[in-house]
Amino acid sequence: MTDLTRLTIAGARDGLKKGDFSARELTSAHIAELEAARALNAYIVETPDQALRMADKADQRLKEGDAPGLCGIPLAIKDLFCTEGVLSTAGSHILNGFRPRYESTVTANLWRDGAVMLGKVNMDEFAMGSSNEHSHYGPVKNPWRAKGSDQDLVPGGSSGGSAASVAAHIAMGATGTDTGGSIRQPAALTGIVGMKPTYGRCSRWGVVAFASSLDHPGPFGRTVRDTAIMLGSMAGYDAKDSTSVNRPVPDYEAGLGKGVKGMKIGVPKEYRTDGMPEEIDALWQKGIDWLRDQGAEIVVVSLPHTKYALPAYYIVAPAEASSNLARYDGVRYGLREKVDGGGLDDMYEATRAAGFGDEVKRRILIGTYVLSAGYYDAYYLKAQKVRTLIANDFHSVFKKVDALLTPTAPNAAFPLGDKLDDPLAMYFNDVFTVPANLAGVPAISVPAGLTGDGLPLGLQVIGKAFDEETVFTVGQAIEDAADFTAKPEAWWRD
Ligand code: GLN
Repeated sequence: MTDLTRLTIAGARDGLKKGDFSARELTSAHIAELEAARALNAYIVETPDQALRMADKADQRLKEGDAPGLCGIPLAIKDLFCTEGVLSTAGSHILNGFRPRYESTVTANLWRDGAVMLGKVNMDEFAMGSSNEHSHYGPVKNPWRAKGSDQDLVPGGSSGGSAASVAAHIAMGATGTDTGGSIRQPAALTGIVGMKPTYGRCSRWGVVAFASSLDHPGPFGRTVRDTAIMLGSMAGYDAKDSTSVNRPVPDYEAGLGKGVKGMKIGVPKEYRTDGMPEEIDALWQKGIDWLRDQGAEIVVVSLPHTKYALPAYYIVAPAEASSNLARYDGVRYGLREKVDGGGLDDMYEATRAAGFGDEVKRRILIGTYVLSAGYYDAYYLKAQKVRTLIANDFHSVFKKVDALLTPTAPNAAFPLGDKLDDPLAMYFNDVFTVPANLAGVPAISVPAGLTGDGLPLGLQVIGKAFDEETVFTVGQAIEDAADFTAKPEAWWRD
């Protein structure tokens, strides 16, 4: 493995500015690595020619002294982001051949700041899943394997390709989206950092919609600093997204390094679930001790409606999905199934039957059911009320504490196929991440330790709305104390 793929974004940025290497060299090193890592199935589309063109442009900007923070940094883009002229599938067959004529705002912001696109990465279809096994393009394999085992494990989901590519050093950072945990859970399962900002911080324009009131674009990186650099570029007001918030974006990187001395950190007692593995509980306790040792005051707090978060999410998210996915009718985008002698309705039906996978169909059925006359009040309206109670839990707790510390996921990476026949077991992966989506508050997952089998585990820091800076500060305190330097063995290289 070349040294250039070992660098952090911050380190590469400094090396590029000093002229230690060029953006073309940095990008070429990553292209060579990702081509040797196809066994992971992380990329749906590789764009090496475009990447080299973008790298040359970055080299030009570097030479001219106009080099924003991400100038020349090669990134992987979750295939949920529309990229102009480049296949954008959302992991679905129904978007077969879809090449958008426009660029999502988040990716446009990254390119404005000089970043380089290596390609589009794999994901659960329409971002529905926690294992990246619900992709039309096949599952992604986690770069990590348990000690002494050659069994393939899931990378988490839905942003499994993003997480795997950053963990395997075949991208320096990646974009993801998090509707119920899809940035933080895969980050935890692959030993990297994943950040979900406040709802409205990053524009959803040009991001294929799953559940619009819950979808949050955000970054993956190998360090907290790298995700802070990326978020600074991705975030910002966008008139094209009516839920985008018009607030100045702080310099997140400059805000790092403040430390947690004097901060109040809440530990929500409801996050101690039945049957939580001892190792995860122990790591959580370690995280508490690390923050206390660095001068934070630890306060046990209550978020009383936590246990209703997952059920409420699995009503609200499918409801919105069933409405958002109505647009895939075989007329406007991608796939069209022709039916001999059939009419328009037959074409719709055949296209949707062939184009959507089983999990997506399950969500459409659930969503249509909970929105139907007679069930709307009992399910959808009730879930919306529960959502308000959950948001209120966070608002009242943040009057007392600066941030919350919890585990990110209730388990480490699991074998491919393990939870495929049991949707509820799969949904349970999001038990600690979903509440922050329902409330719209920012949260980060930071790698904090290994299981006895040598698999990564993450801790989650949740903060107040629009206070990403505190989330990064506490995340960095965990990162410093954990000193997580373990790496997966590169079994995937050919
Ligand atoms: N795993 C959750 C789901 O399947 C969350 C997915 C996401 O955050 N996109 O809905």
